[in-house]
Amino acid sequence: MEDKTRARKVQPHCLVLSHPFQGHINPMLQFSKLLVHEGLKVTLASTRFYINNLHININNNLPPSISLESISDGCDNGGIPEAGSYNAYLQRFWLVGPQSLVDLLEKLAKLGNPIDCIIYDSFLPWALDVAKKFGVVGASYFTQHVAVNNIYYHVQLGKVKVPLMEEDEISLPSMPKLQLCDMPSFFFTFEEDGPVLDMLVGQFSNIDKADWVLCNSIYELDKEVVDWTTKIWPNFKTIGPNIPSKFLDKRVKDDEDYDFTQFKSEDYCIEWLQDKPKGSVIYVSFGSTVPFDEEQMREIAYGLRNSNKYFLWVVRASEETKLPKDFEKKSEKGLIVTWCSQVKVLAHEAIACFVTHCGWNSVLETLSLGVPTIAIPKWSDQITNAKYVEDVWKVGIRAPIDDEEKIVRGEALNNCIKKMMESEKGKEIKRNAIEWRTLITRAASEGGSSHKNVLEFVSSLFSL
Ligand code: UDP
Repeated sequence: MEDKTRARKVQPHCLVLSHPFQGHINPMLQFSKLLVHEGLKVTLASTRFYINNLHININNNLPPSISLESISDGCDNGGIPEAGSYNAYLQRFWLVGPQSLVDLLEKLAKLGNPIDCIIYDSFLPWALDVAKKFGVVGASYFTQHVAVNNIYYHVQLGKVKVPLMEEDEISLPSMPKLQLCDMPSFFFTFEEDGPVLDMLVGQFSNIDKADWVLCNSIYELDKEVVDWTTKIWPNFKTIGPNIPSKFLDKRVKDDEDYDFTQFKSEDYCIEWLQDKPKGSVIYVSFGSTVPFDEEQMREIAYGLRNSNKYFLWVVRASEETKLPKDFEKKSEKGLIVTWCSQVKVLAHEAIACFVTHCGWNSVLETLSLGVPTIAIPKWSDQITNAKYVEDVWKVGIRAPIDDEEKIVRGEALNNCIKKMMESEKGKEIKRNAIEWRTLITRAASEGGSSHKNVLEFVSSLFSL
């Protein structure tokens, strides 16, 4: 059916526009690759400073099938730090971004390469107005978990009030009951983070006009909330997990396995894993943005060392000085790197579990690869994701927080590691993780829920 429709139209051209965050460009790049695989032409864009500073694996070459472009956010020379704060940055981007996007669309049209569809990061809702102005399809792409989006949507509806009280119980359709401590961090830091919360709620400001609402989630993970959301937006589609498809579909060739990163990968860690026994190594990473203070770093360091297990820990260059002075970067049991190809690491059979901040991509990657999780969420949606990891999908445990210091103590981390690697509970969690891996792989494979949704979206563009 699709092939006949596709034969009628020249290759539709999508502009995929990402907010300048690693956790946004990663899934949007992977989604772009899927679209190219299904016959579309894709131009991937983000902000000028961000694009100019990306490392492109493999061999620093541009991928053959996807063109890269950039728009201005008003901070072309220094990115977010140039604005002084994230709040100030958002204001500048909102002011400068729309016109710069218009300029890009005009430039591409002049080059004989016009855009048929803008797939815009839901953090940038003004891109939909640009799509409407040009009369092209506008598809909002949500990089965060569908349940987290549902929370922000209910703030927009006025059904979740800010500020919340400690004793409030948040009851939203098709979701488990949430306490304040399960909510994204902006609900308890709204005094300083008000503009960020406004931006997150603003994702829904014009969503009713979007032609498609795409979400990097999987139907099987969140049936109830997806069914509920689809009643509101019939064109709401789960198209995840947008991770390198090589890990979901063995037919994808290695040379399609490039990615873009803010940081240079130290992939000798994959070799380091080679001679480690199956299921013996703890992988530790807190993503691309979370900072910890020195005390938290020390507790994690000693917790790992005292566990006496192998560990591979990603400590970004900007965090390295916070490590205890006597803590070696390479020891008999441990290796610290500044960045790695995380999905490759998680797919390695030596990995036993993942100590993570629960950024949504990291959660999706562990679920897709069947790796159990020890959750140390810090801010934003990570807290709600950790709740789902522990209580809904039952693929992990949340490390308890020391109430006074608000940090995870080394001993607490060590207990979680023991529980995960040595107890019956740990075995049960591993079994759950493997079950989710099976369901997710099926969803992403031919005929699966996500794959069908991607095809439906692509076919609609071919039949424009
Ligand atoms: N990542 C990586 N190498 C690392 C650490 C992280 O490739 O050493 C990737 C990880 O696979 C994920 C992304 O960076 O795709 C981080 O996104 P996430 O949503 O988990 O967290 P954020 O960085 O947004 O807090």
